[in-house]
Amino acid sequence: MDLGIKGKRALVCASSKGLGRGCAEALAAEGVDLVMNARSDGPLQEAAQAIRDAHGVGVTAVAADITSEEGRARVLEAAGQVDILVTNAGGPPPGLWTDWDREDFIKALDANMLTPIALMRALVPGMMERGWGRVVNITSQSVKGPIPVLGLSNSARAGLTGYVAGTARQVAEKGVAINNLLPGIHATDRAVSLDSGVSEKQGITMDEARRQREATIPARRYGTPAEFGAACAFLCSQYSGFIVGQNVLLDGGATNVTI
Ligand code: NAP
Repeated sequence: MDLGIKGKRALVCASSKGLGRGCAEALAAEGVDLVMNARSDGPLQEAAQAIRDAHGVGVTAVAADITSEEGRARVLEAAGQVDILVTNAGGPPPGLWTDWDREDFIKALDANMLTPIALMRALVPGMMERGWGRVVNITSQSVKGPIPVLGLSNSARAGLTGYVAGTARQVAEKGVAINNLLPGIHATDRAVSLDSGVSEKQGITMDEARRQREATIPARRYGTPAEFGAACAFLCSQYSGFIVGQNVLLDGGATNVTI
């Protein structure tokens, strides 16, 4: 299926690896030119070159911390006008509800709520003026069902979800569709880090930690960055303009909810 976005330009944040990379790959496969970002320059440049080679699209790579004002300013300057924005950043650390103080919450809010909001504030007005735009925020299944060890994520992402719910409905008339993608567990470095936590805490191997987690998922496996990217590309397509302010779970059925 041709998604009808060949020649568009996308900023995909935090995209040298994992879910962001999956989104970058899937958009590039549709002929979308990219601005990619991550903090470490080496892996970012490698990812950018691999995507240029595989898909023949233009890729600008900006090494910067997207959660800092300075980093964001450099990324936005390099990006210029974009038609598609995919917001993403690393997730907050796990812990117990008693572990976190104000500073921890401020950091989580900065990374997983205020950064995507700042990016939308910078780029959505241009999309509205041009009459077309797509925004996909990578959030988490923790928005639909809290994950006990990820209290910082539960909190910060809920704040972003509220902002998107209100904002998406104010910009839709200008052809801009904002939605959130909610990953459950996917086979990325983040999953390795979460599984190491379980392995250390319970004194089990990484394989056992993974099998234990897989057993809780109706699909009995982890998702892949490629299938996550395909869903993202669809939400960025010509066919998704009537999908507005939605929270789409990609979790193999793990979150036990009816809607
Ligand atoms: P990942 O495999 O660890 O990849 C993270 C990517 O983001 C890397 O390219 C990393 O590169 C970049 N990055 C991290 N922090 C950044 C920052 N401050 N500024 C710019 N780039 C940054 O993670 P992932 O699994 O794709 O997860 C992406 C998001 O989805 C996270 O917020 C995570 O919490 C959430 N999520 C993931 C899962 C899962 O199972 N994978 C489930 C639910 C939610 P550098 O390190 O070089 O910056």
